[in-house]
Amino acid sequence: MPALDTPAMYVRGVGPRIAQMLAAKAIQTAEDLLYHLPFRYEDRQNPRSIDDLQNGETASVIAEVRGAALLRTRSGPMFELTVGQGRRAMKCIWFHAAYLDGKFHAGQTVALYGRIERSRSAAHFKMIQPQFEVLPDASDDAETLMLEVGRITPVYESLGGNRLTSRWQRRVIFQLLESMRGNVAECMPQALLTRLYLPDRETALREVHFPPEGTPPTQLQDATTPAHRRLIFEELFFLELGLELKRRKMKERTGIAFTTGDNVREAIREVLPFHPTAAQKRALGEIAADMREASPMRRLLQGDVGSGKTIVALQAMLIAIENGYQAALMAPTEILATQHYLAARKLFERSSRKPNIVLLTGSLDEDRKRANRGLINRGEAQLIIGTHALIEEKVEFDRLGLVVVDEQHRFGVLQRFKLMKKPGQGEPDVLVMTATPIPRTLALSLYGDLDLSVLDELPPGRTAIQTRRVPDERSAEVWNFVRKQVEQGRQAYIVYPVIEGAKDDQPELDFSRDPEEAAVPDATAKPRKRKGKTADLFVPAASTEGATAKSGLKSAVKMYDELRKGPLVGVKIGLLHGRLDADEKDVIMRRFHRGEIQVLVATTVIEVGVDVPNATVMVIEHAERFGLAQLHQLRGRVGRGAAKSYCILMTGPRISPPGEERLEAMVRTQDGFELAELDLAMRGPGEFFGTRQAGLPEFRVANIVRDRQLLELAKQEAARFAATTGAEATDAERALVRTQLKETWQRRYGLVEAG
Ligand code: ADP
Ligand code: MG
Repeated sequence: MPALDTPAMYVRGVGPRIAQMLAAKAIQTAEDLLYHLPFRYEDRQNPRSIDDLQNGETASVIAEVRGAALLRTRSGPMFELTVGQGRRAMKCIWFHAAYLDGKFHAGQTVALYGRIERSRSAAHFKMIQPQFEVLPDASDDAETLMLEVGRITPVYESLGGNRLTSRWQRRVIFQLLESMRGNVAECMPQALLTRLYLPDRETALREVHFPPEGTPPTQLQDATTPAHRRLIFEELFFLELGLELKRRKMKERTGIAFTTGDNVREAIREVLPFHPTAAQKRALGEIAADMREASPMRRLLQGDVGSGKTIVALQAMLIAIENGYQAALMAPTEILATQHYLAARKLFERSSRKPNIVLLTGSLDEDRKRANRGLINRGEAQLIIGTHALIEEKVEFDRLGLVVVDEQHRFGVLQRFKLMKKPGQGEPDVLVMTATPIPRTLALSLYGDLDLSVLDELPPGRTAIQTRRVPDERSAEVWNFVRKQVEQGRQAYIVYPVIEGAKDDQPELDFSRDPEEAAVPDATAKPRKRKGKTADLFVPAASTEGATAKSGLKSAVKMYDELRKGPLVGVKIGLLHGRLDADEKDVIMRRFHRGEIQVLVATTVIEVGVDVPNATVMVIEHAERFGLAQLHQLRGRVGRGAAKSYCILMTGPRISPPGEERLEAMVRTQDGFELAELDLAMRGPGEFFGTRQAGLPEFRVANIVRDRQLLELAKQEAARFAATTGAEATDAERALVRTQLKETWQRRYGLVEAG
């Protein structure tokens, strides 16, 4: 009799060959098969008679194939299928569907599900692009038939080729469930399930695949049937329990108990260039409290772009330094590391304390790197700023007290800080900073092993950034506007998606965030809606005549040339992109900081963290091609000083519907959280968080956006379970929970043992 951990190969209907195909889809065991849920359901309980169909409705029809034809139309090949019930007939059509040719034969029975339209003559119904399935014929056994019709039928994503179809899965899963009847091992305490009104595991698995008659279709659609809720809760519960235990374990580890007395307060007062906001004070208070604790700090500091995270981190670093420890700041790019380095040096200029500040990045020459490693190792450097090189160069610190990770996405590095301290010392505190505006409940639940501080307030004196969309044809006005701002002593960024022209030559723009659009940028595009009268840019426009629209992508290199010879002649322009070597980048950034460069033509290298408060204009060309998070980050480069700032989104002639939505959102709001929510909704959690990259687990049944409430519940229950060491469970149940937890974390999340 199969059990959940039976290798897929031994499941009836599978065998070695198919098991191999399944393995490619990460299905190794009977359990994996059972947790491969239908992605939708078709209500074939009461298939409809063609006679009763209504115009505009979506319906399920079972009928016999009468004929099929591939028609050539002006807009491409159209496949037409005629089906009938007795004397009634109906046509189904699919556009661009040459692939359907030859799939159907007269006499077959098909299940169709789709939208009904009355043809123009009003005499016939048509079904438009229906989902379909050729049903088994009467010679098939009764069991197969019973799985296909007269019920709510599960529809699965194919697991490979023509072989592992939806029907195949239905059959294999049905038989598997039958053979395991009464023997599916439970993994959660009964008392917990009862309290939350959740069904047991076996019932949940059975009903999620073969919903009982009368299950509301909307519940199936939204994955909110009791069966779905149970399985989703289960997955999230074990995630949260693991995180909770990790956090508890961390509290038991030996860290460093810093003190925060008058000397620290004085040190901070000396360097702080302005009054901190209330949010900054609160965050620092939370951080300082953690640092005083003897257990290691693991805290996430979340704040929208421009909220002032850096200075909070710097104060935390001062605490460590005043206690005689070293503090390290790790930035994601060399540009940023250098910026932090220069800013820190400047801050300490007027302080009586002169910590030795050292920069360590990959591109420093070997001599300098060696020298700096020595300073760090001997404890002669107190404030160390760098990139990933800090980890990669295997620097051993003398007395590392605090690590700050700026704009961090790869949480995987967390574990590796252990490598940086000398053996026998307490573990350093870690502060991770992020501008990704993860909604608070999500952040808390997903980074359950981190504590969270939020900067929910911008420094005073910021005015809203005025954001406009401007079509390419009006670029002359844009350049005019930039020129005027420069004449008023301001600076501007002009951002391009690529460095140079060729399509395959664009390391800077991460199209992978939007794979569909990257592959076929124009396939889904529709001509841009012209917005009536083009009234003004920000100031009344002189003319709406501009350069003619160009096709193809404008690149930073080309436009840099064009702009400085043409529209921006006489303005001091610089060019910055990822292919310059580190020194060149450095020089350009410094000159831009000092105002010697007035307009910086750049790629997305400036996306994150760059801080030049005098810059007031952000022009983004081909804005429709950038992701929402990117646009928001780029816009965050301006509006950092008191002067009014502008963001101009220039767009080409063709914009895909999602592109359109992103641009509209950018114009509508500047709220990072609102934009993040939309981004999350548009791209889905995997893409949004860059799942693997972020070190987040991939879920098999849960969707953290859709299932947010269950996530919250799972977190509460996990905390309760951990706090009471599973008081409401029996000994046997506690053992089951432990086993399941260990397996999930080892196998699925590939993270350190959860304990
Ligand atoms: P981010 O959170 O995006 O990293 P930064 O730390 O770069 O933001 O801060 C953005 C800008 O705001 C910087 O120029 C910084 O000097 C300034 N700033 C930060 N805090 C304050 C404050 N309390 N008052 C005035 N300006 C501040
Ligand atoms: Mg920053």
